[in-house]
Amino acid sequence: MATDCLFCKIASGEIPATLVYEDEQVVAFHDIEPQAPQHLLIIPRRHIRTTLDLTAQDESLVGHIYRVAAKLARQFGIADDGFRLVNNCNEAGGQVVWHLHFHLLGGRRMTWPPG
Ligand code: AMP
Ligand code: ZN
Repeated sequence: MATDCLFCKIASGEIPATLVYEDEQVVAFHDIEPQAPQHLLIIPRRHIRTTLDLTAQDESLVGHIYRVAAKLARQFGIADDGFRLVNNCNEAGGQVVWHLHFHLLGGRRMTWPPG
């Protein structure tokens, strides 16, 4: 665990969050500032700073995160209408929390191109 990492603290339970899913590898919870009627964050328990820090050993982890996203999309009723699964990487990509995370957004029509 990285000291001073908000999402490490959420994964360990040190900081409370509304968890919607957890297993040995990942945790998912409601975003505190939702940008859509459904806005969940899916994070690895292990501290990984950005997408650029992923290694070959993380391939199954990322696949697992996608499968958890699909399960949650169905569970939260946004699978059939459609949803967006987003990873913001580095500053110009909009990343503000430096622990890898995927936004699962749904419940409204998304626009393209994204802002
Ligand atoms: P990003 O801009 O991709 O780094 O996204 C970080 C996200 O974390 C934002 O959507 C925030 O609203 C969300 N966030 C920040 N603090 C918390 C928290 N304590 N619990 C849940 N979500 C949070
Ligand atoms: Zn962390």
